[in-house]
Amino acid sequence: MSPAPEATEDTQESGVNRRALLGGAAALAAFAGIGPLRAQSHAAPRSYRLEAVEIAARTWCVYGAQEDLTRANGGAIANAAFIQTPDGVVVIDTGPSKRYGEALAQLVADRLPGKRILRVYNTHHHPDHVFGNQAFPREALAAPQAVIEAMTAQGEALAANMYRILGDWMRGTVPTPPGRALNASREEIGGRVFTLTELKGHTACDLVVRDEETGLVFAGDLAFLDRAPTTPNADLPAWRASLAALRRMERESLLPGHGPVDPAGASLEQTLDWLDWLEGTLRESVARGLTMNEAMATPIPARFAALGVARTEFERSVVHLRTRLEEEILAEAPSGG
Ligand SMILES: [Zn+2]
Repeated sequence: MSPAPEATEDTQESGVNRRALLGGAAALAAFAGIGPLRAQSHAAPRSYRLEAVEIAARTWCVYGAQEDLTRANGGAIANAAFIQTPDGVVVIDTGPSKRYGEALAQLVADRLPGKRILRVYNTHHHPDHVFGNQAFPREALAAPQAVIEAMTAQGEALAANMYRILGDWMRGTVPTPPGRALNASREEIGGRVFTLTELKGHTACDLVVRDEETGLVFAGDLAFLDRAPTTPNADLPAWRASLAALRRMERESLLPGHGPVDPAGASLEQTLDWLDWLEGTLRESVARGLTMNEAMATPIPARFAALGVARTEFERSVVHLRTRLEEEILAEAPSGG
């Protein structure tokens, strides 16, 4: 997809034209919405084509693309899910925009006609998971207090960034933190029981929802499968502890925040492996006195080659985590060292 490899073959003279052509092709590809979303007519706003995949009894996932936020995918990169209870529907995460939230609510209505949405859980405050909240009944939205606080404090800044990246896809989207703070470790919603566990590490508060009927654990972004984890708010030791807690949790299967449903728990191993490698690499780069750019150029091990967005997320993680790590190491070092 990327024109970069061909562009490097350009000769000095033909470079400009080749690049202009390639740029045009890339623009066309972006316009055509190559990827999971089809081309829309020139003037019409784009719409999400969401698909519900049944992953457990009366449980559906709407998979996100294993990509970065782009105008081609409309920001639909995180998993959302919904569960049919005897008396209604429970939704877990709402996607990146008002328009996505509306498409998700419509998908639920099509799949489960006449069923009311009784509860919408937000797993954490990241915008690819919660900016569809507006499309759902206000009284149904719920999250731990710390998630609500993070959404309230950071919503405007996160929205500005999403508008910059996604443009028209975001039209009308207003950050909408839930009004209901979860304070129980267990809720019965419409006749189905859910266990709620507050962990942390991907962010300062990551909600894990376990459906007691199926044993399916919704791990949010504590678990990634076949995509490199994102780290803008990561606390690596806390994240590791949460992965250990998830490993101990009784479960039949697990849905990561990004990636396919995971009965074997491979996402927990893969996420831990990535975090360990990331921290080791960052510590080594500090110890060797590498610049930020040199650290970013570190080769990514072959075992991570199949992970989506590995290079981009690694580079971002260097930016997010290295300064913090340097400070930590300096604080640990004997004085003068
Ligand atoms: Zn996240």
